[in-house]
Amino acid sequence: MDFRSLPKIELHAHLSGSISRECLHEVWLQKKERGETTLEDPLVEMPAGKFDYDLDTFFPLFSRYIYSLCNDLSSLIYTTNSVLEDFQADGVVYLELRTTPRAIPSANITKVDYVQTTLDCISKFNASSSMKTHLILSIDRRNDLPVALEVVDLAIKFRDQGVVGIDLCGDPAVGEVAIFRPAFEKAKKNDLEITIHFAEAPQSSTAQELWTLLSYNPDRIGHVIHVPEDVREEIVKSKLGLELCLSCNVHAKMIAGTYSDHHFGWWRETGCPIALSTDDVGIFGSALSNEYALIAEHFGLDRKQTCDLARGAIDTIFGSEEEKKRLREIMWK
Ligand SMILES: [Zn+2]
Repeated sequence: MDFRSLPKIELHAHLSGSISRECLHEVWLQKKERGETTLEDPLVEMPAGKFDYDLDTFFPLFSRYIYSLCNDLSSLIYTTNSVLEDFQADGVVYLELRTTPRAIPSANITKVDYVQTTLDCISKFNASSSMKTHLILSIDRRNDLPVALEVVDLAIKFRDQGVVGIDLCGDPAVGEVAIFRPAFEKAKKNDLEITIHFAEAPQSSTAQELWTLLSYNPDRIGHVIHVPEDVREEIVKSKLGLELCLSCNVHAKMIAGTYSDHHFGWWRETGCPIALSTDDVGIFGSALSNEYALIAEHFGLDRKQTCDLARGAIDTIFGSEEEKKRLREIMWK
C-alpha cells in the first residue's frame, strides 16, 4: 500500500518542530554567508539519523538552538513554507499546525507580527494547494496566566484569519496547570476549540492534574499515555478526540517497549476518534505516511482498516462542517 498517496489528516504538529534538518541547514547557510550567525551547522547539531531525543534533550534543542536560528522574518517565512510543502508532499490533505506565539525583540518582531506572518504563509499556501491548513496557538506550561490570556486574545483576534483553537504544551516537568483555568474558560466562551497535551509523562499525569485538565473541556487531547482507569473511562464516555504520536513516543522513550506496545492498541477499541500525528517530524524524522505504515505493520491493519483509521480523524478536526464535507469527499473516494 502506498501510504504517501493515502489522503491523511495531521492534527498534532508543532510548527518549529516540523522543520526538516535540510531546511534548517539552508537557513543556516544563508545566514552564515551573510555573517549573521555563529551557531553550529544544524546537520552537526542534529545529525542525520539521530532521533533519540528524550524529554531532557528535546526542549533545550528548541530554546538553545532552533529558536536562535529562526530569529527573523525571512527565516520564519522560509521555514513555515517549507513545513507546509513537506506535509503536502507527504499526502496530507488537512493540517492543523500549532505554535507558541513568540516575540523576537532583536528583529523587532512582536507576537502579533509572529502570528500574522505565520497566517500569511498559510493563507497563501491554502489559496494554491489542495491541502488546507489551520493554526492552533499554544500556551506553554512555563507561561504565567497573563501570558496565557495573551495567547487566547491573539487567537480571538486572528480567528477570522484561520486560528481555530488553543493548545497547552511544553515541558511536562514544568508548571502548574491549575493556573490556566481563566484562559481556557475565555477560549471556550469565545468558541475556540481546545486541545491539551495530556498525560505525556509520569510527572504530568497525577490524578489531580488530569482531572483539572479535563475540567477545561478539551475537544481533543494529545499523547494520552499515563492515564489511570477512571480518567480513561471519562475520556471514552466523552468520546474525546485523541492525537496519538507513535514514533515520537518510541524514540523519546515516553512509552515502555516499542511500536507494537503503543497505547494505540488500547485506544483503537474505544470508539474515540483517533488522529495519528507526527508531533515533531523535524526531530523524530517519521513523516505521517510512515506513521500509518508503522501502525499498519505493527497492529496488522489491512488496507480498509488503514483507510478507515485515516477517515476517522475527520470528525475531530477543528475546521468547519464544510471542511469536513470536503474531506469526506476526498477520503471516501
Ligand atoms: Zn506535541
